[in-house]
Amino acid sequence: MSIDNVALFDMDGTLCDYDGQILKDLERLRGDEEPHFVGPIRKGPDHIKARVDAITATSEWWKNLPKLELGWEILKIAQEQGYRIMILSQAPIDNPEAWSGKIKWLQKHLPDVDMTLTRDKGLVYGKLLVDDYPEYILRWLTWRRNGLVIMPSNDSNSGFEHKQVIRYDGSNIEEIKQAMTRLKEASGLEQMARDMPKSAKRVFNR
Ligand SMILES: [Mg+2]
Repeated sequence: MSIDNVALFDMDGTLCDYDGQILKDLERLRGDEEPHFVGPIRKGPDHIKARVDAITATSEWWKNLPKLELGWEILKIAQEQGYRIMILSQAPIDNPEAWSGKIKWLQKHLPDVDMTLTRDKGLVYGKLLVDDYPEYILRWLTWRRNGLVIMPSNDSNSGFEHKQVIRYDGSNIEEIKQAMTRLKEASGLEQMARDMPKSAKRVFNR
């Protein structure tokens, strides 16, 4: 199978509505006197983090995460344009239930799609990355100076901008389609040559 047109898709915050489900479950656990917690979840106080750990402790929770519409709209375009779809996801190293649940989610929704679960997304090849988290996006772009990232918009990434990143907020689907078409038409070898650092190019061209 061709590795030329690989589109990598993140799960939480891209294809899965992790934040939405967590906030719903936290609300269920909120005492009458407690204030509403609205996020961001990563920056929550310790008692909220402890509740998040309890909520996410079973693989069933991960398996049953609802779909996030923004990510699925991009996935549909990638499928229509003939990209090879791969999942590129991170999971908490101290929670094997999350790893297992993510595989179950994939079997349920995209059974023919391969998955890479890693602690370092920068190591994985793709022509396109669809991811909502700036830190992982920047890591992946370190090795792909001409790679393209589509970032589903959310409150946490609202201030993030980068010349290789297109934000998708549901209103610019045509822009996304056109960028993906252009990217697919560029040859993988040409792109690889452009991505190569200057020092490597000197060795390559010798
Ligand atoms: Mg994410």
